[in-house]
Amino acid sequence: MVTIPGLMQALSTSNLTKTYANGNQALKGINFSVEAGDFYALLGPNGAGKTTAIGIISSLVNKSGGEVEIFGHNIDTNLEAAKSCIGLVPQEINLNLWESVHNVVLNQAGYYGLARRLAGARTEKYLRALRLWDRRDDQARSLSGGMKRRLMIARALVHEPKLLILDEPTAGVDIEIRRSMWEFLRAINAAGTTIILTTHYLEEAESLCRHVAIIDEGKIIEDAPMSTVLRKLQREVFVLSLAEPLTEAPELNGFETVLRDDCELEVDKGPAVNLNDLFAQLNKRNIEVVSLRNKANRLEELFMRLVEKKQDGFKEMVGQ
Ligand code: ADP
Repeated sequence: MVTIPGLMQALSTSNLTKTYANGNQALKGINFSVEAGDFYALLGPNGAGKTTAIGIISSLVNKSGGEVEIFGHNIDTNLEAAKSCIGLVPQEINLNLWESVHNVVLNQAGYYGLARRLAGARTEKYLRALRLWDRRDDQARSLSGGMKRRLMIARALVHEPKLLILDEPTAGVDIEIRRSMWEFLRAINAAGTTIILTTHYLEEAESLCRHVAIIDEGKIIEDAPMSTVLRKLQREVFVLSLAEPLTEAPELNGFETVLRDDCELEVDKGPAVNLNDLFAQLNKRNIEVVSLRNKANRLEELFMRLVEKKQDGFKEMVGQ
């Protein structure tokens, strides 16, 4: 296993493979490492292998080959120590719905061997932090979908793991709750917890994560700091709202322009120019911009391109 001296790795996998009993090759040898303290996104389309990878890391799924180390503990030789470093929030709601909210968290603390007093104190701490303390005596089944997800986060945190893994934590959660969950996750990451997140909401990854790995068909196809991944997108399309209507799109050096409607101008920015050039040219023409937004989420664009590249390869293969 490759380790970089001086850097504490929260997680490293080496040539991780998984072939399910039906012959399905879900992971084809993946290598990635997550630095301690990082906020790491694992992205990929449905069926890419994200849940399988997370399942292996948290020892819910048996690997077919390769190695996994969690804070230096190999899961083959030191499973209990590895497991104690991890808190997992799975994709499926897997709460005992007949248990009280309080007991869901308290029992998990017992499972990790926390002394009774500490278990009680931690249960209160995390139920309060996730705004579920008022509901502590209710059965888990009475909670809304967003609350159930928050309860799973409280449960995953009660033993204060160094690594928190969340599989699609905000799937189906409304925007307000999603944003408050983001704030909470940012805060615990700032306090030192390493976080790995899988998500379909690329905006979520872009907003939260400092490092991104993209997995597709059981292989890692991108693994880099978020800023590097975003820089790869040298072309960006901006939509400008204009104060005064135009009759035709202005010609701007270094930019392609399309007038979407008389007050909305779409500007495609090439790699050699920056936004200062754009505004200088617009000022010269007395075109006043009221607001500006990215046409698409940049990470989403990159993702589409990676998948398109693959489809182009496929088209070449079948001669289209
Ligand atoms: P993701 O989380 O990225 O959507 P998964 O890890 O769930 O991907 O799935 C990866 C591949 O493994 C898919 O082709 C999926 O159908 C397959 N797979 C997942 N679980 C099983 C299983 N228990 N048995 C057989 N195949 C499975």
